Amino acid sequence: MAPRGEGASGAGSLAGLSTKEIESLVDPPYRARQVFRWVHVRGAVSYEAMTDVPKALREALAARLPVRSSRVIETHRSEDGTVKLLVGLSDGERVECVLIPEGDRRTACISTQVGCGVGCVFCASGAKGVVRNLEAFEIVEQVLWLRDAAAPADGPSGPQARLTNIVVMGMGEPLHNVANLVRALRIVQDPEGIDLGSRRITVSTSGPLRGFEELLASGLRVNLAISLHAPTDEMRRRLVPRGGTGTVADLLDMARRWFETTGRDVTFEYVLLGGINDRDEDARALARLAGPHRNVNLIPMNPVSFAPDLKSPAPERVARFEEILRKAGVVVHARRQRGDDVAAACGQLRLSRAP
Ligand code: SF4
Repeated sequence: MAPRGEGASGAGSLAGLSTKEIESLVDPPYRARQVFRWVHVRGAVSYEAMTDVPKALREALAARLPVRSSRVIETHRSEDGTVKLLVGLSDGERVECVLIPEGDRRTACISTQVGCGVGCVFCASGAKGVVRNLEAFEIVEQVLWLRDAAAPADGPSGPQARLTNIVVMGMGEPLHNVANLVRALRIVQDPEGIDLGSRRITVSTSGPLRGFEELLASGLRVNLAISLHAPTDEMRRRLVPRGGTGTVADLLDMARRWFETTGRDVTFEYVLLGGINDRDEDARALARLAGPHRNVNLIPMNPVSFAPDLKSPAPERVARFEEILRKAGVVVHARRQRGDDVAAACGQLRLSRAP
């Protein structure tokens, strides 16, 4: 029952280890699956909770690494059921993540970086640049904290509520942190753990080409959403100033390659900014770019205090924009604002530091 080997060196928490990596730490190997299930199915946040794991093994693991490295500092519950968590990391940095319940769905929206270097003009996350990438265990832990928030009454020893979907749309550009993203998502996909199929996971990106190549090469097959936000290169450079060197044509090419490699259609995301990119001519240009049967998510901008000049379009404008796209055969989803009363809506997650 003794722990063995160095195994997953540098890992910051048990939550960030795969069953194989836990196997390299414990003996006999079947104990690894037991421990893994305690973390990912039964929601244990401490070794004491793992009552059917031998005490000596628990103590030896505890001397090596914590079950989770982060902690929830603040919980904000919106009137519409959305829950925003402020998560404190072991180095004092903080990230935000959001649980979005809707009907039978419980979607976890998670972050991949502290801050963001892309600097979309409408987004609080990128207002102060990027501080650092999140480690894989810090990404997995957000999923676990959000799962706890979905069913706090179950406690650490009961069966936990299931998350049904993950969207990687929180703070940060996921494709600037591909290695940790892929590692984390493989852990949450493990059938012995959270067990989320790849069709239930969506990665949203502004489209950095190198990160895209890394994601393709990783073999991870998830849904991809590309943030377009503008129908022309000139407008996109203004709205997404550091969204890689690619042009709109490059993003369309990326979507084509993702489809050819994975068989999955990409969704284009388009944040509507009143008086900027919400004109009829923008809708027509977007329809031409996307083409019939392609998916476009329209997201009316959510207010952010640092950019008082930017405003949401009027509802009639959103409806008109949507109509133009639909008539052109585009499959349009107009996203309902969720959690804006607790600043948990798209673009409102922000960089904050411990005082
Ligand atoms: S919208 Fe996404 S890519 Fe753009 S600044 Fe915010 S977090 Fe970064």
